[in-house]
Amino acid sequence: MSEISVTAIPAFSDNYIWLISTGGEECAVVDPGDAGPVIRELTQQGLKLRYILLTHHHPDHTGGVAELANCYDVSIFGPHYARIPGQDRSFSEGESVRLPLLDLEFKVIEVPGHTSSHIAFFGHECLFCGDTLFSVGCGRLFEGSPEQMQSSLDKLARLPAPTRVFCAHEYTLSNCDFALAVEPENADLLKRASEVEAFRSVGRSTVPSELGEELAVNPFLRTREPAVVAAAQNRRPGVQPGAETLAVIRQWKDSF
Ligand code: ZN
Ligand code: FE
Repeated sequence: MSEISVTAIPAFSDNYIWLISTGGEECAVVDPGDAGPVIRELTQQGLKLRYILLTHHHPDHTGGVAELANCYDVSIFGPHYARIPGQDRSFSEGESVRLPLLDLEFKVIEVPGHTSSHIAFFGHECLFCGDTLFSVGCGRLFEGSPEQMQSSLDKLARLPAPTRVFCAHEYTLSNCDFALAVEPENADLLKRASEVEAFRSVGRSTVPSELGEELAVNPFLRTREPAVVAAAQNRRPGVQPGAETLAVIRQWKDSF
């Protein structure tokens, strides 16, 4: 297996398109919502795009696929029940996505919640989780139930602590504001929030984060922690830990 290198290609106002390479001239991208920035970056670095990995069908993750497929000889891999035209192969839970030209392999994890057919890619201590898990936050529930999102996040939470979390948006600053409303006394969160503020004030990315740290600061990974459950119960008395707590804090975040 090769040494993986992952860099961010910023797109739109807050998307990250992840560029994966292993030192050679072939590469992969995850969730190219826009082709322009990808083509510019690849041209600059002299890289050839060979694989496109897609976590879900939303346009800010797939909008650049058609143009990239016109420009490069690519294989396009994405979720089952694809709503994405041009996809070469669909993957479901537990299957492996092989990128032989990069000598890399990722396990597919089905993570319904944000959309019903959202998947994540895990391998080489990297997690590409689209709009399911963000740093200090999680995606909106457009198509899934709180129960689905809870079990999707539970799957991600069980990955090794050193896993680097490559989410698709730079939302961390506003996520910290919300997380502090839920858990104002979480010392790890206070530390993360001030670090994020410092990073963003100089335009630095707050992604990737480490899964182990997310477990300590991300309220959506902490829906069984007494402090988070108590904050949810303040808003809706009697809610239980887990999915019910997630439902309350997700709804709270939607109007925060
Ligand atoms: Zn999305
Ligand atoms: Fe998105």
